[in-house]
Amino acid sequence: MTLVEVRGDLLSGLNPAQREAVAHGAGPLLVLAGAGSGKTRVLTRRVARLIEHEGVPPADILAVTFTNKAAGEMRSRIADLLGAEPSGMWVGTFHAIGARLLRIHAALVGRTPGFTIYDEDDTLAAVKRVMERLRISPKDRPPQAVVAAISDARNALVSAKEYEALAMDPFSKAAAQVYRELEGALRQNNAVTFDDLLALPVQLLEQHPPVLERYQRRFRHILVDEYQDTNRAQYRLVSLLGSGHGNVTVVGDDDQSIYGWRGADIRNILDFEHDFPGARIVRLEENYRSTPQILAVANAAIAANTSRKGKTLRTTRPAGEHVHVVAALDERDEAEFVIEEMQARRYAAAGRPLRDFAILYRTNSQSRAFEEALRRHALPYRLVGAIRFYDRREIRDVLAWLRLVANPADDEAFRRAVAAPRRGIGDTTLDAMAAHGAAHRVPLMSVATDPAFTTVLRPHTREALATFAQLVRRFGEAARESPVNELLQDLVLAIGYEEHLRAEGPGAQERLDNVRELIAGAEETVVDEGGEVGLTPLDHFLQRATLVTSADALDPAADAVTLMTLHNAKGLEFPVVFLTGMEEGLFPLSRAFDDPAALEEERRLFYVGVTRARDALFVSHARTRRRNGETMMSMRSSFLREIPAGLVKERATIKLRGSAQPWGRPSAAERRPGIPTPWTARRPGPHAPFPMPAEDESQDAPRFAQGERVRHARFGSGTIVEFGGVGKEAKVTIDFDDEAVGRKRLVVAFAGLQRGDE
Ligand code: ATP
Ligand code: MG
Repeated sequence: MTLVEVRGDLLSGLNPAQREAVAHGAGPLLVLAGAGSGKTRVLTRRVARLIEHEGVPPADILAVTFTNKAAGEMRSRIADLLGAEPSGMWVGTFHAIGARLLRIHAALVGRTPGFTIYDEDDTLAAVKRVMERLRISPKDRPPQAVVAAISDARNALVSAKEYEALAMDPFSKAAAQVYRELEGALRQNNAVTFDDLLALPVQLLEQHPPVLERYQRRFRHILVDEYQDTNRAQYRLVSLLGSGHGNVTVVGDDDQSIYGWRGADIRNILDFEHDFPGARIVRLEENYRSTPQILAVANAAIAANTSRKGKTLRTTRPAGEHVHVVAALDERDEAEFVIEEMQARRYAAAGRPLRDFAILYRTNSQSRAFEEALRRHALPYRLVGAIRFYDRREIRDVLAWLRLVANPADDEAFRRAVAAPRRGIGDTTLDAMAAHGAAHRVPLMSVATDPAFTTVLRPHTREALATFAQLVRRFGEAARESPVNELLQDLVLAIGYEEHLRAEGPGAQERLDNVRELIAGAEETVVDEGGEVGLTPLDHFLQRATLVTSADALDPAADAVTLMTLHNAKGLEFPVVFLTGMEEGLFPLSRAFDDPAALEEERRLFYVGVTRARDALFVSHARTRRRNGETMMSMRSSFLREIPAGLVKERATIKLRGSAQPWGRPSAAERRPGIPTPWTARRPGPHAPFPMPAEDESQDAPRFAQGERVRHARFGSGTIVEFGGVGKEAKVTIDFDDEAVGRKRLVVAFAGLQRGDE
């Protein structure tokens, strides 16, 4: 933003339609417009103008953004525009805002303000334990599927009771039972799930009219970005809080709705006029982000969708370079091409910094080829969202300790902390403790020091438990005063975590560095907005650690290439974008083949990808690709077929041209509609024309991420808890669903694992 804009009127630098939206006074407002048309800009300006021009106190405004980072950006942009911090304004993601409401009114939903937020792993663990208690076999009812069913219900605001009434088949009946029990277990652990952060506030507002009235009076203006991706619970929150006064502004793009698989409902935006009668509708038709060439490709891509409202998006920028469609030999060749192209642009006359480049892909596992190539060329990169920092084992261990310190009722944290490092408390003891805890409705932490229980233990175990409990209590007291970083430092020392990691051998240093990074990061924990709920710095720190979303990890100042999935790229923009892996079965994913709605969602995702680019766009696909340790032939994505030939320039890498493979537009045979595809075509036989170097085999054991679901031919399904090593050395530790199998450590190259979702 230029200085002139900062000092100038809040309506300057806007087109007439944008101005209309920014200057709109009271009443509902819908800004429905395509990518890069300035929706987010309008939202930010509008907040600033409400404060400056309409005299609305910042504390009366609730602004919902898609990531915490976007929230931070909005705050600072508003501060820039106004020359002061907008104090008291609530701005954040739906989840963060939900958490805040719950902290204030925790007692009304059976929690205390210090409750723990369970992430996906914690929730899965809790569900598994409930299933154990109910004697539901994980073999018959995969816990992951049960979690998904409950999560869907939660997001659709279907209560356990309603779910039970609707459950007809055996699976749903089992899930209903777990759903009901889980609620009690969470309450007892003083914990909530991610989904609860939306569903419980709705419940709170619906069941307590005075609370609802208080917030309806308080938030006189509500503004929501990316409204097309709201689910039922989020929608309900907005309408509960906003339908009284109707001062609700939502902005979005039905063509960018990409979270249908997570319960987002595109109708929420399409029905806005109906839900908020008299709504003013503003359409923005100018795209300020991309060159005409990029925009033409975007418009052509989305035109293939039949269920859409249809919008015009005009370019405002002068002509730029062509959009390139690049054919590569395999995924490594694709990565090499991307790097060459980047290097050429970095060292060109008007060189570009690395932060100008983004590499986008459909699935997390595709990052690997790029990471390797970037490392080989010593180019710094930022990987957004694969294994999040907070998902690493060492970080989870340390956080479990902190969580238990903050909330001694958190049984999941207890189980993790008591084993990190191991202190001679085995599974049998833990099971007995859990049974005792369930019977007396008390947390494990109380069982640990309950003489009625501990007298039956062997002295060694009893002592171990006592020492453990004492440690937790000691830090609980320290937490009230000490800054989080000091607390962490002392804790890591007191539990002997460094020695514990070192004893494991290689890899310890990296893990220790991560722990240090966590401690350093804790130093910056600012207790903003905490006063009203009386949270400790530790509570704040933990909440932030759980609620950071993948896209938050972006630091725009660092000069590095960005790697991320298309889903994480929503709302962002980059001067140069590489949209990679455009192959049938990968993008669109094969599971969309026989589901027209899913295919349209994939196409919207393609549209999102294309429209992230400002100046240059490369769309690439590879002839063969290794997936799950196997090389497969692939065919260019049908999405590319939908782009008229004149809009793009076709290119092939030198390696592909050298391989005498056809690389241009697809042959008639390839183009035949309805032929299935690519991932079904197996690695070519010995006479095949694609010689793969022998070293390929050894280097390329598939890579898995912690938490990923996999299938083993003999042991069945399981969840990866640990992954390490490369190539032949790569090993995984898997918790198999079948209790008889339990936890196993396997060599990836020989395990023949199938990914869970395939
Ligand atoms: P998306 O749908 O991808 O979220 P959006 O509609 O929110 O996009 P913005 O991110 O607000 O679009 O704007 C896209 C780009 O265009 C930004 O760089 C923004 O600063 C710029 N822009 C928006 N409006 C104008 C304008 N009137 N004049 C100049 N630049 C503008
Ligand atoms: Mg936006």
